[in-house]
Amino acid sequence: MADRNVRYGAEIRKRAGKVYKKKTTKYECPACGKAAIKRTSYSKWECNSCGNKFAGGAFSFTTPSGTVSKRLVEG
Ligand SMILES: [Zn+2]
Repeated sequence: MADRNVRYGAEIRKRAGKVYKKKTTKYECPACGKAAIKRTSYSKWECNSCGNKFAGGAFSFTTPSGTVSKRLVEG
């Protein structure tokens, strides 16, 4: 009986691992309008399409106030 319980627990762990999904969030670039914004470092974001860099929140592109971040580097 004890052996059965151990195997059951292992099965649950396997299922939990399968359910886990990598979170991928794309943000729209204020400069070119394409959803190609990627976080490059802490609170810095870069557009894969046009290459513009922006300052944003640490964990999301928009700031806590909800406004779109200001531009860091021109052109
Ligand atoms: Zn862009």
